[in-house]
Amino acid sequence: MRPLSNWHNAIAHVDADAFYASCEAIRHPELKGKPICVLSNQNAFVVAKSYDAKAKGVTTGMSFYDARKLVPEAAYLPPDFRYYGQISGKMFSIFKRYSPDIEAYSIDEGFLDMNGMRMLWHKGYRQIADDIRESVKREIGITVSVGIANTRTLAKIASECNKPNGTTIVPGKRIERFLSDIPIEDIPGIGRSRMALLHKFEIRMAGEFAKADEGLVRKLLGRHGLILWRELNGQAVLSVETEPPLPKSVARTASMGEITADKRIIVAHLSRHTMRLISELVAKHLLAHRISVFLTLKSFESVGMEIRLDYPTNSLQRVSAAVRQAFSALYQEDVLYRGCGIVATHLSCESSATEDLFGFMHEDIRQAKLMLAVNEINEVHGNHTVAPASALPLRKRSEHKIRFQYPLLRAH
Ligand SMILES: [Mg+2]
Repeated sequence: MRPLSNWHNAIAHVDADAFYASCEAIRHPELKGKPICVLSNQNAFVVAKSYDAKAKGVTTGMSFYDARKLVPEAAYLPPDFRYYGQISGKMFSIFKRYSPDIEAYSIDEGFLDMNGMRMLWHKGYRQIADDIRESVKREIGITVSVGIANTRTLAKIASECNKPNGTTIVPGKRIERFLSDIPIEDIPGIGRSRMALLHKFEIRMAGEFAKADEGLVRKLLGRHGLILWRELNGQAVLSVETEPPLPKSVARTASMGEITADKRIIVAHLSRHTMRLISELVAKHLLAHRISVFLTLKSFESVGMEIRLDYPTNSLQRVSAAVRQAFSALYQEDVLYRGCGIVATHLSCESSATEDLFGFMHEDIRQAKLMLAVNEINEVHGNHTVAPASALPLRKRSEHKIRFQYPLLRAH
């Protein structure tokens, strides 16, 4: 299948490089030259790392303990989604200058409909992409990478190709050449199991997938696979969703890639899902009122539990607490698990939550009063007489000298 022309459709994907770590670098200039790792809430896994931390071997999902052993000189910071959300907002307002039609795909990446923008700016796509990168760098102090192509899927693959701070332009006539070097697992939407299936049919590169028979693709991957196949062939099936309707739910679920009863591994996966879920809620200005946690058993059966939150929120602390509560209720030591997931439901827009402002304040005041009372008791009877239940496992862990052995830099 051949694209009609070089630019019958143009979509840009702009993706911030090492976003959370880069945000921290802006407000911590004293960390210049140091590798930066952002940790998960409570669990102390690395959820984001700067490029120099990555170069030294730190991977996303690595435990704080292992990362610290590998790169002791790095700064390890707690996550702050409120702050990342603010930087994200500034970044999207810059994108908006280059195209009126933008979609916030996640907290640090967006799609821009670029049709007609060459005429408007009297510039080619490469120059526009470079302008976007330079504006973000100059005005915010972080770098982004840009991919421009005929379709969303191609643009997203392209933005990955010259990271960090790179531009990749794929005109219609270059698609074939471009895809010949891309392994199929780099196609968004091709996970581990689809990759394994395609490998059985000798399809290893994105170029081979794009040239595969349409009927075979439908048979192997169904409708979803066909959409990807068309997108890779330059036919835009997925458009830039400028005002997506309020979703019914936001979910993060995945197979763990192993079958295990190890609580720490499952908690690590849930922790990563939680961070990604919160990142999406913050990016889309959504609040969740209920959180469901699922564990998939070895037998493919699944168990789940829904937690109703006190009020709609996208706070990492609150959602993490709900996830922990559900997990403790669901997890059984003698059972083997293969996957897990989190679903946020009963969603509302942040903007509509102002009506509930009193409710928020009420709850926060109640919590503040409670904390004051706890502090008083602790002052009289000694520290840790009263502590939140969620701190108990931490106290236990600190006895093993894992979590509190190293000072955490507190970000303000
Ligand atoms: Mg990114």
